[in-house]
Amino acid sequence: SVRVRFAPSPTGHIHVGNARTALFNYLYARNTGGTFILRIEDTDFDRSTLASEELIYEDMKWLLMDWDEGPMKGGAFGPYRQSERFDIYKKYTEELLEKGHAYKCWCTKEELDAEREKARIENRQPVYGGKCRHLSPAQKAELEASGAPFAIRFKIDKDVVHISDSIKGEIDFETGVFGDFIIVRPDGVPVYNYVVVIDDALMNISHVIRGDDHLSNTPKQALIFDALNFSRPEFIHIPMILGEDRSKLSKRHGNTSIEQFRSQGYLNDALFNFLALLSWSDDQEREIIGKEDLIKSFSLDRISTSAAVFDFGKLKWLNGQYIRMKTPEELADLCLPFLMSAGLPADRLDREVYVKMIASIASKMELLGDAPEVMKVYFQYQTPDEDAAEFLKLETTPAVLKSFREKIAAFSGYIKEDEYKDIPKSVQTETGVKGKPLFMAIRVGISGSVKGPEIDKMATLMPVDELLRRLDAALE
Ligand code: GLU
Repeated sequence: SVRVRFAPSPTGHIHVGNARTALFNYLYARNTGGTFILRIEDTDFDRSTLASEELIYEDMKWLLMDWDEGPMKGGAFGPYRQSERFDIYKKYTEELLEKGHAYKCWCTKEELDAEREKARIENRQPVYGGKCRHLSPAQKAELEASGAPFAIRFKIDKDVVHISDSIKGEIDFETGVFGDFIIVRPDGVPVYNYVVVIDDALMNISHVIRGDDHLSNTPKQALIFDALNFSRPEFIHIPMILGEDRSKLSKRHGNTSIEQFRSQGYLNDALFNFLALLSWSDDQEREIIGKEDLIKSFSLDRISTSAAVFDFGKLKWLNGQYIRMKTPEELADLCLPFLMSAGLPADRLDREVYVKMIASIASKMELLGDAPEVMKVYFQYQTPDEDAAEFLKLETTPAVLKSFREKIAAFSGYIKEDEYKDIPKSVQTETGVKGKPLFMAIRVGISGSVKGPEIDKMATLMPVDELLRRLDAALE
């Protein structure tokens, strides 16, 4: 059965690249009825924190991904935090040492630095020279007895490792490029390339789906799988995500963490859709595919071999599409925190009025974060800018506003839409002013701005006394 994992290191919010990796694993598990495992790779004690682990859970949930096994969730293959698995790793380290697949290395930092420096001068990759691989039993015994700290290295016994990757194809890696690599550091902490193998094997991972920045680690991992007689999982290395200049996506291209997208008002379902289409497409090449359809149509063989460009403009467009698919009620809830944090007390509005206000601006938003800017006219008369002042200065404007004021003063509370419908017409008849000078005078008169929601929405979603106050201010 399919068992896949997302294995983040808890160092902060999830980066979009890792989110896409998580998503492909998630979609594959859900498509096949398999199991999706969340494993926390926290062996880097200086950088890993429990607080960051929480951020990962938060981001995953926000991005609509649930998991079947994991640290808080449990499961039959735990623990799911690497920091809690050290005695498991130790047991396998002993096995590797016993079987001669690994050896202790007492080389000092100075010795290794010197080797590295020599390689740099000779313009080649630094590879361990193998001094401790060739120690005599007497030398070994002496070092053992000295109590000096030692690393543990994997002993490479072949020149080439063959890897089959579903996307990259058949690859032969020359082991001479990396040499006998360290699996346990002198401080006793086992390294990523080692523990990832033990975990993937013991957790019965069937498919390793991850970014192709890990491809160069795969030969080392394959050697360890083989040495421990574990069967290798299928490897699926997905192409990385590029910025629009085709360099690796980074902060300078824009948002890179899931939290940044969330706080700017991207919708989780839109981002889910967008990320799924980075190096994957369905057979109809649809742009808008909801979560359930993505689960249904996801397949590994449609993952592209080429890198995807992260098109921020397209994501914004897609977000707008998803905003348009929400009901006004849903959108009202989604916009509320954005309005509140911009100082617009939308929670104090009558709910029905508020929902209608949101409906009146939905078509003007691409991000939820646009809501305060388009909604602010409902909360406050805007100080007219140059464009608005131009309409207030028109010769015809005072007459238009006076006539308009008189008509709406006949109502109290809120004017209903069908009651409002004829008012501009009768102002036109009364004043002889029509077109832009008529409509813009009214718009600026009640909002202070040339932009904003439809005039009839503003006139019916603000109470009459508020409209009158604004008109009086404009007429001053
Ligand atoms: N902790 C590794 C990372 O975050 C996991 C890589 C893997 O999936 O093997 O890159």
